[in-house]
Amino acid sequence: MSKRDYYEVLGVAKGAGKDQIKKAYRKLARQYHPDVNKEDGADEKFKEVNEAYEVLSDEQKRSAYDRFGHAAFQGGAGGGYQDFTGFGSMADIFEEFFTGFAGNGRRRRTGPRRGPDLRYDLEIDFLDAVFGVEKTIEINRPIICPDCDGSGAEPGTTPITCPDCSGTGEIRRVQQSILGQFVNVTTCPTCSGSGRKIVEKCHNCHGRGQVQQTKPLNIKIPAGVDSDMQIRLTGEGAPGEHGGPPGNLFVIVYVKPHDYFQRRGDDIYLPLDINVTQAALGDEIMVPTVDGEAELKIPAGTQPGTKFTLRGRGVPRLKRAGRGDQHVVVQVAIPKKLSPDQERLFMDLGETLGKEVIPQHEKGIFNQLKDTLGDWFGF
Ligand SMILES: [Zn+2]
Ligand SMILES: [Zn+2]
Repeated sequence: MSKRDYYEVLGVAKGAGKDQIKKAYRKLARQYHPDVNKEDGADEKFKEVNEAYEVLSDEQKRSAYDRFGHAAFQGGAGGGYQDFTGFGSMADIFEEFFTGFAGNGRRRRTGPRRGPDLRYDLEIDFLDAVFGVEKTIEINRPIICPDCDGSGAEPGTTPITCPDCSGTGEIRRVQQSILGQFVNVTTCPTCSGSGRKIVEKCHNCHGRGQVQQTKPLNIKIPAGVDSDMQIRLTGEGAPGEHGGPPGNLFVIVYVKPHDYFQRRGDDIYLPLDINVTQAALGDEIMVPTVDGEAELKIPAGTQPGTKFTLRGRGVPRLKRAGRGDQHVVVQVAIPKKLSPDQERLFMDLGETLGKEVIPQHEKGIFNQLKDTLGDWFGF
């Protein structure tokens, strides 16, 4: 494989100045630094870029390369330039070019940055969660300032090149260390790394480039959502900076509890009282479901805590077809007050039932109740 031309590697012209070469190298070194770039071949690129810079940044080596090309450094003539591990450890390179952002938490702000994500908490009714709903929310969020198009400069004026960093967005200080000279790079505090300084700030956004705006937004809530679920609206977050894409808007759903339906997953539970005679003799009753009333047959001799299931009357499954079930859990309501007629009937009934006390079998009423409630509440 033939070696690529060093100028080509750095993407600069043959007559490029020192600063140009340095700038190109810094950009590529950042791009391919193994601590940053995990792609295949990135470290090879990083080596190649370093090698090219090592030669082109040194006047003597550069003139030798200009005259003889890669041959200048072959066969040991160049003094072992091929072994670039001797040029400086990765750590040094990292120091030189990454201080100021990765190293100490400060980040360069010149590049495009994605806008922050926003969160909106939305409360919806139980039945809206079951069947889905379309909601219009009024959301106050930042938008790009329409007066200055996000530049932050008063319309009609233009930002000037930052005088403190000459538009580079960085302050560079040459420092001496035991390993030699290195350049400490920090973000320019005057322009926050943008390289431009606004002389007259936009009256609308006061130089921020963004303003808050309350705007109605339509949200489609799918059938079957439940509390704490998130709906992502791509690109509806805050605008990006320096041409970066906007963030996302996350709508967090909170479902209000229903008066009598209780939800567990895709199933709906309905506690229901029936009276003593309905339990003893059986009955056909109408029970509420999310679709309206449905008929339920109570067989004679129904015990307290019995669970009846209405198939397919639950919540639509979010990412699959079909629906959960509705479970009707019946309790037998014992009348607290009796009319004289009712009292007489109960007394007659009592005569026929006798006064015998029968101990519970293995599976008594409390266990039955516990099973049902366990089903219901998960204990
Ligand atoms: Zn503005
Ligand atoms: Zn500056």
